[in-house]
Amino acid sequence: MNKPVLAEATTLAAFATLAVAFADLLADHHVSALATLAVALFILNTGIFLGDALGRTLRTRLYRCPTRRCPVTITAPRNLGEDALRHYRTQATDHTLHTQAGTR
Ligand SMILES: [Zn+2]
Repeated sequence: MNKPVLAEATTLAAFATLAVAFADLLADHHVSALATLAVALFILNTGIFLGDALGRTLRTRLYRCPTRRCPVTITAPRNLGEDALRHYRTQATDHTLHTQAGTR
């Protein structure tokens, strides 16, 4: 299992465990089934969101333009070849390549 998938699975398993623990705790306090289900689904949804974000972060590289206040960023998959990554890095870090001449 590769690192991003392992991180996603671990995050989801941790949040699933947390959801079950909270559901059990709420059931002990006689909270309605609908409210218990809502809390459990909210916790699971949070785990899915965080696991997806973590997996996406581990699968990609982010290149930013170093020019102050320039919003250009390029996200490239990590598994690209070195030439393709160098192309994306150059496109992001060379400010003259993504601005119109004379505007900045
Ligand atoms: Zn720039």
